[in-house]
Amino acid sequence: MTNSPRHIAILGSTGSIGTQAIEVVLAHPDAFVVEVLTANSNADLLIQQAIQTRPNVVVICDETRYDQVFTALDPLDIKVYAGAKAVASVVQMDSIDLVLTAMVGYAGLLPTIKAIEAGKTIALANKETLVVAGELITRLAAERGVNIYPVDSEHSAIFQCLVGEFHNPIEKIILTASGGPFRGRTRESLAAVTKAQALKHPNWSMGAKITIDSATLMNKGLEVIEAKWLFGLKPEQIEVVVHPQSIIHSLVQFEDGSIKAQLGLPDMRLPIQYALGYPNRLKSDFPRFDFRQYASLTFEQPDLETFRNLQFAFDALERGGNVPCIVNAANEVAVAAFLRDEIGFLEISDIIADCMARVAYVAQPVYEDYVQTD
Ligand code: NAD
Ligand code: MG
Repeated sequence: MTNSPRHIAILGSTGSIGTQAIEVVLAHPDAFVVEVLTANSNADLLIQQAIQTRPNVVVICDETRYDQVFTALDPLDIKVYAGAKAVASVVQMDSIDLVLTAMVGYAGLLPTIKAIEAGKTIALANKETLVVAGELITRLAAERGVNIYPVDSEHSAIFQCLVGEFHNPIEKIILTASGGPFRGRTRESLAAVTKAQALKHPNWSMGAKITIDSATLMNKGLEVIEAKWLFGLKPEQIEVVVHPQSIIHSLVQFEDGSIKAQLGLPDMRLPIQYALGYPNRLKSDFPRFDFRQYASLTFEQPDLETFRNLQFAFDALERGGNVPCIVNAANEVAVAAFLRDEIGFLEISDIIADCMARVAYVAQPVYEDYVQTD
């Protein structure tokens, strides 16, 4: 890269996206400088990452782990803070160019708002933020002239297809979905599936919450809403196709009928690196796709009756207002309950449907409405 190094904050550095981002950063010491790392509670890994990357500041959200992190990092001249409020303030540090939002869930909303307010470029992995408050986030980003680069592989694919085409209107986009571990199953047969079965994703290794979301197809639903806001689309311009091999990461159709796709092995380091390094493509040694290993790439219609969460997301997109926030909040609580073995797999959808029916509709939510709805 010919430019000066980009100074980055990694929120959620100890997670699946966060650890892969650190791998990317360490492989390109001329391109990136780490300014901030934050984690929820994994103090041991946060300390180890800070020793490797030498940030200015780390934040541990769980305040009971502060002493451990402070004792380990203070001698290295690394500032240590604790608590969620600290995350929302350190993202505004002058030295930061770009903030990678790789924490999971609604907790990403406030720090993302604060980072945009401070004019930081966003590399967005935390899709829940755009689902909950896409209108607010995109308006704020436009006001501040802030770019949001997608990290999600599907949205990165679309973004990569659009480079050089930003003046050409999109006719539609096609998001690919692996179908998850329960593709082809009937609804009845899913009543008794276990947490361990749901956590076995066929193509991707990810955090627990998004892995369950992939099994219910909620993840694709969240991505439909994420795509609306990232690319300024109408609901009817967004289509989902099941593509079990996860080689085509998504497609864009332009107004002349031409379709562009982006392909590669399922490896999140690639979209992470593209978002951190945009517009440059940094050299990598990631495994390459080989046509000889894939005799066929196949496509199916998603089954919206078995995987109701995807239908709920399309409904939420149509209804707008705080409905996507309701769906997201209900899903976060239901998935957490499923992961604690408190509810069955199909009950995740029941809980979301119930909340969609019961929580008061707000047509034009402001920030406080999102907090209230959540
Ligand atoms: P993960 O569970 O592996 O990691 C989450 C990270 O966020 C950890 O560092 C954790 O310490 C931190 N965290 C968790 N709760 C927090 C809270 N309340 N406050 C502050 N920090 C908190 O999750 P992941 O799989 O890396 O996913 C992160 C985000 O990226 C999610 O929004 C997910 O949808 C999105 N995403 C992930 C992948 C993937 O391959 N893992 C792909 C696309 C998008
Ligand atoms: Mg994705």
